[in-house]
Amino acid sequence: MHELGIANSVLEAVRAEARLHPGARFTKVGVRVGELSGVEPDSLSFCFEALVAGSDLAPLELAIERCPRRHRCPACDVSFVVVDYELACPQCGKAQTDCIGGEELELSFLEVEQP
Ligand SMILES: [Zn+2]
Repeated sequence: MHELGIANSVLEAVRAEARLHPGARFTKVGVRVGELSGVEPDSLSFCFEALVAGSDLAPLELAIERCPRRHRCPACDVSFVVVDYELACPQCGKAQTDCIGGEELELSFLEVEQP
């Protein structure tokens, strides 16, 4: 399962941070998941919880920020969220627009427990 591998890399990234900050306890990790990334957020949450339970990182919460597909019009520079595969510029109607968002798959933040 694709999501299991991703959940694993998220945990590896958190462990790498933990090594850089001895003594710090992470409570929450944020991940940006783009609509076009091919990742199913529910499935990612499920895999993440399964991996964290009983591990050295428990309890660690996963916060998924879903990023919609965004396009930008090269003619009038307006950017917009693509809904129902409608890629034309809502302002000038130009059919050819550029994809500028929606493929994200990255860590956005790590929350540390305050002493
Ligand atoms: Zn336009």
